[in-house]
Amino acid sequence: MPAQLLERLLLALVLIVSIGWFWREVQLRLALFLRAKPDKRFSLRPYGPRLVRFVRQVCLQEKVIRERPLVGLAHAVVFWGFLLFLLVSLDHIASGFGVAFLDRTGGFGWLYVHLVAVFAIGVSIGILALLARRFLLRPRALGEVSLESGVIGLFIFLLMVTYLAGLYYPEASGPIAHALWWLHTLVLAAFLPLIPRSKHFHLLLGPIGVFWKAQTLAHIPTLDYEREEYGLEQAKDVSRKNVLDAFACVECGRCQENCPAFLTGKLLNPKHIVLDLRKHLLTRAQDEAIVGTSIPEEAVFQCTTCAACEYQCPVGIEHLPLIIGLRRGEVNTGKYQEEYASKLFANLETRRNPFGLEATVREAFLKKAHLPLFDATQEWCLWLGCVGSYDPHGQEIILALTEILRAAGKSFGVLAKEVCTGDPARRLGNDYLFLQLAEQNMEILKQARVRKLLSICPHCVKTISQDWPAAAGWPQTFGAEAKFEIVHHSRLLAELAPQILAQRHQRSFSANNSPTYTFHDPCYLARYLGETNTARALLRLTGGQLREPQRARARTFCCGAGGGWVFLGEEKGKRINRERAEELVDTRAEVIATACPFCPIMLRDALGVAGESAPQVLDLAEILAASLGLRPLQPRPGELAAGDAAQLEARLLAFFQQHPGEDFHALHLAKLIGFQGKLPLLVAILSKLHREGKLHRRRDTTVHSYFYRPPH
Ligand code: SF4
Ligand code: SF4
Repeated sequence: MPAQLLERLLLALVLIVSIGWFWREVQLRLALFLRAKPDKRFSLRPYGPRLVRFVRQVCLQEKVIRERPLVGLAHAVVFWGFLLFLLVSLDHIASGFGVAFLDRTGGFGWLYVHLVAVFAIGVSIGILALLARRFLLRPRALGEVSLESGVIGLFIFLLMVTYLAGLYYPEASGPIAHALWWLHTLVLAAFLPLIPRSKHFHLLLGPIGVFWKAQTLAHIPTLDYEREEYGLEQAKDVSRKNVLDAFACVECGRCQENCPAFLTGKLLNPKHIVLDLRKHLLTRAQDEAIVGTSIPEEAVFQCTTCAACEYQCPVGIEHLPLIIGLRRGEVNTGKYQEEYASKLFANLETRRNPFGLEATVREAFLKKAHLPLFDATQEWCLWLGCVGSYDPHGQEIILALTEILRAAGKSFGVLAKEVCTGDPARRLGNDYLFLQLAEQNMEILKQARVRKLLSICPHCVKTISQDWPAAAGWPQTFGAEAKFEIVHHSRLLAELAPQILAQRHQRSFSANNSPTYTFHDPCYLARYLGETNTARALLRLTGGQLREPQRARARTFCCGAGGGWVFLGEEKGKRINRERAEELVDTRAEVIATACPFCPIMLRDALGVAGESAPQVLDLAEILAASLGLRPLQPRPGELAAGDAAQLEARLLAFFQQHPGEDFHALHLAKLIGFQGKLPLLVAILSKLHREGKLHRRRDTTVHSYFYRPPH
């Protein structure tokens, strides 16, 4: 048999083994994918946004480079090189059978192989840099050093070197060229089956994941109770996108290094959630529970749903449908039993608000603040939300906003009744309760004939605009007349501020005495709703100077309130609100501006430790109303006359000592002790007494309720 034929037979055998092994590995994973629940999202629509995202994030590697410029660039060069190499690799194999199609001596072929040569140099440098980072610098985000990564890195380097050397020693030039050709072929053949077995499967799955990623963050699929869907309890419950995500993870650790839970020493690591699911799918039976077997329940419930993980992930992995899906499985089957969560669910079920307060508290606020009821003749229906209805500081934000609306000549009204949007129930996995609340609200809004809804809370905006339609089939189920738009107040304030100035023939606010601000971007505003510029523009308009914290805009760091955590028990590790508050204090700004009523609850709570020197935490509406001279800022406790503060403290302590062990909410306390002043002052004094150890509060009572424990 001639040597050439023998060689071709050998090449065919190598290819059969390599491709066969590759296909076997792919088939195993493909079977898991096909066995999983079909996902409605696997449709090409909407074409435009999907295509744009694909071009930006896959073809141009925009996210990879933006978030980690140097490493990202090295990775992008390797990726572009990989794409260009597809054609030369095919040509390489074809040349083994004597049917090479790229003419290396001239024309397109010559141009192409030399372009690839330039990339081969770039890829060699890039891969060496990535290997040095992985094995010498060893950043924590990459986790354990793996031999597999080293082998694959070495393979890529060898492929590049043999390719470049092959250009120097053309095929006809003798045994060196021949040896190089075979070395290149064997590395290629060994590399192929390793792809599906390793994190390098992302080369194939990453682009698919990015294309089919939902258009919004935390896109939670709807449960079909008739089909007995209760969440992701076992492997048989996971969706095809969950499976795709599990195998697409490149283990880069971007999610981990941006996760507030992980960074404050909790068990949760979003990267491990994805990888543990992968392991579960590969090694466990279809009917084995995921939580408790492969993923700890504690980790699943530590998530604040801040979406930093989803935002950062370069391969389109959606952590939140997975985490919330696992929570649903635990909550809906009654396995999750946590004191504070049970109390929260009970409050939502019975009182329709997370604080468990009577609706009369809200009614009293409407009456006292003279808020007009919405009757469909006004332009805006002002959605108070639970914090705006029941929390003293939330009420202050609402009052500041209404002053601005009045000054701008905007008509508005509030609903006589509204219930919680269901946000904390949905994020904690209690979908049945979420649906009940959503439907009750939708009926209220439909009856009220609302067209434009205004909210101070980005959680409400996200839940109403994205979760209600997806989960309750709204507006289809409620008719086209139930359709309305919802706007976050920061957007309207940015429109109204220049308008009010124009009415007053002013160009800007006086810069005199304007404090320095730092803006804490709420996760639900910056990441979920993509709004990061409006607040800054507004603060600049007030004449204030802006100091950016280390993590800002869409890379903001959570305050710790989301995912129901504002109502849950004590966190493990360092508290997330403390971590964020420290970062904001480091800016040395006098005021921390926010645009979500949950953030001040968390930040004020954390800043309590800094005492009266701490910066003020104010909403944009309060800042603007004060700048316009419409409503003075609430004085801080230190600004109370010393005698008055001492008197109030003494009154409060005497009251608590008469009711040992009983919990009191600030709103109730005001009534019980006959306090006539501003509620935030009362809350500040309570907080001071708590700091001094004279009063106690449970973790869920950051929302202003305290108790006294007599000394033994
Ligand atoms: S949503 Fe936020 S808290 Fe939850 S896993 Fe992702 S980064 Fe961590
Ligand atoms: S989930 Fe995404 S961000 Fe996290 S390690 Fe995997 S690829 Fe990286």
